[in-house]
Amino acid sequence: MKQDMSSATEENRRVLSGMRPTGKLHLGHYHGVLKNWVGMQGQYECFYFVADWHALTTHYESPDTLGRYVWEMVIDWLAAGVDPEHATLFVQSRVPEHAELHLLLSMVTPLGWLERVPSFKDQQQRIRDRDLSTYGFLGYPLLQAADILMYRAAHVPVGEDQVPHVELTREIARRFNFHFGRDANFEKDAEQSLERMGKQAAGTFRRLKQALGETGDRSVHDRALELIQDQQSLSTDQKQQLMGYLEGRGKAILPEPEALLTEAARLPGLDGQKMSKSYDNIIAMRDDPGRVEQVVRVMPTDPARVRLSDPGEPDKCPVWPLHRIYSDDETRQWVQTGCRSAAFGCLECKKPLIRSLLREQEEIMQRAGPYERNGNLVREVVEQGIANARKAAQETLEVVRDAVGTRYL
Ligand code: SF4
Repeated sequence: MKQDMSSATEENRRVLSGMRPTGKLHLGHYHGVLKNWVGMQGQYECFYFVADWHALTTHYESPDTLGRYVWEMVIDWLAAGVDPEHATLFVQSRVPEHAELHLLLSMVTPLGWLERVPSFKDQQQRIRDRDLSTYGFLGYPLLQAADILMYRAAHVPVGEDQVPHVELTREIARRFNFHFGRDANFEKDAEQSLERMGKQAAGTFRRLKQALGETGDRSVHDRALELIQDQQSLSTDQKQQLMGYLEGRGKAILPEPEALLTEAARLPGLDGQKMSKSYDNIIAMRDDPGRVEQVVRVMPTDPARVRLSDPGEPDKCPVWPLHRIYSDDETRQWVQTGCRSAAFGCLECKKPLIRSLLREQEEIMQRAGPYERNGNLVREVVEQGIANARKAAQETLEVVRDAVGTRYL
């Protein structure tokens, strides 16, 4: 993604990411998200949060499960190796500053921007057993934007499919900065620079600036930047000033975050589909070893292997993607050759996989042990995280209240 002047700078190493507490975490979460979190905690200033308000946007009819899952989920994070010495772990609803920023952002966010978020209509149509025609559900991308902008995060780790959400956050930041970010002389100085461009170019700039403010359209933004860059009569400083004028960045209040594309291993479920609680095909991060062995033993395989003597094809077998993640080169080669030549049966093929899964679970269990035995330890981690998060959030809100004119005391 292109980095522009208002984006968070390279020196800003802050990363924000959250998870909704809607169930026990499984190995799909471990390989798809948590391993990345662990990897990032040494390189970035990481804020990881339990998105309990987000869970309520879709699960408001079952609030009783929230409390239980919040603590279980934090134990899963710690069991994955997330280190509270290197990352701030907190619960969203215990940092009420998120709600204030969400409200303030809502003042300048056009309804159409929220209605066009692809997941809004898609999920409303897909999830039929719950009424999602609520403001909470419509506004959840805005709450997400508030979560990110609250920490002035430079990076948001996301998969390819979530890039539009980060893009929406950037548009909202740009619009907020446009409305509230100008200081007294900035506008006057920028208008003087515009005069140097000549009547026609200045007119085009003004039209594009207005269209950008109304629509947030990225292509309009890029056309305006091109126009500024083409102006021979402007100094570099004046060009930069006009870029700021275009985006309303007289004063950077909320920096635009960058999507940090993460290459996560996609772990399929026991039936070969995406691992998900709703498909009933998961292995929990802290599962019972006996169950792990049993569910892998009965996993479906390539349907062509009816008899032991029938050759199979790993690419048509749901067990193979698990071998790709859990087995070493030698074992993978053994599977490929042995499956295609019917040298062994499927149960034999699953044995090294079961061993690797149990080894991994044992490590997870060991890390979880102290927290499972002493709930106070988990609470201490989260309480400290909440204190750290609130400090950072309050710093941002001071600036934001100043800008919107609500800092009276
Ligand atoms: S031998 Fe292994 S890879 Fe081949 S079909 Fe059986 S379980 Fe799948």
